Amino acid sequence: MPELPEVETTRRLIEPFLLGQVIDTIEHENNHRYQGLSNVLGRKVVALDRRGKYIIARFEEPIELIIHLGMTGGFRLEPGKHTRVTVTTSKGTVYFQDSRKFGKWLVVPQGEYVTMPTLHEMGPEPLSDAFELEAFVQDMAQAPKIKPYLLSQKPVAGLGNIYVDEALWHSQIHPEATRLNPEQATRLYHAIRDVIARAVEAGGSTLSDQSYGLLDGNPAYFQFEHMAYAREGEPCQRCQQPIAKYWLAQRGTHHCPNCQPMP
Ligand SMILES: [Zn+2]
Repeated sequence: MPELPEVETTRRLIEPFLLGQVIDTIEHENNHRYQGLSNVLGRKVVALDRRGKYIIARFEEPIELIIHLGMTGGFRLEPGKHTRVTVTTSKGTVYFQDSRKFGKWLVVPQGEYVTMPTLHEMGPEPLSDAFELEAFVQDMAQAPKIKPYLLSQKPVAGLGNIYVDEALWHSQIHPEATRLNPEQATRLYHAIRDVIARAVEAGGSTLSDQSYGLLDGNPAYFQFEHMAYAREGEPCQRCQQPIAKYWLAQRGTHHCPNCQPMP
């Protein structure tokens, strides 16, 4: 599933086609995953932002188009058999493809996220000034199991299964650790910022299913820097013990049992 780095990369790729442009046409499949899209027809996109794993287009009118890529959603410059939404401006046409159909497009009144609890309760952006070390350390002192808590988006926005596993490996914290001490929380804070910044730089991670890619369909690069995610059985780059995988809260969870011992 696309996480912050993949969604940010996607946002940057479609920005030249949408920002400052009037939506000339928007065609989509007619079902509950695409709601209210006719409201943006003929309107000008004045900002194309991202919050966590959501792309948010803003208009001169007080409405927002919220795009969630789901599991396999992404944009291409050519139509394909999984094209679900086609958007045309004077700059060209972009095609939203989504093979597994978990993606969603929704037009809402500005700032009204009550129907989207994850967005409504989302924590700060990890690369923004709003993500403060002191507040994070305090939050982590009360944390329930750390991996599911990070996945909830409440302590910090945008991390999913890949980047939580990576940040916990870098900070040497077990995925089920609770109530982190200030030293652990500080390590985790810096690991999150570092991993996310490097992953954005690399255009995100293209996994073996190839569902996420750049606008031309080519893979991104951060998968080559994974230290834990999808490296089950391979040597830990810190201690050479094999990376282990187990299931935690229905998520495949990768960690080094030696460097990240159960607390
Ligand atoms: Zn290790």
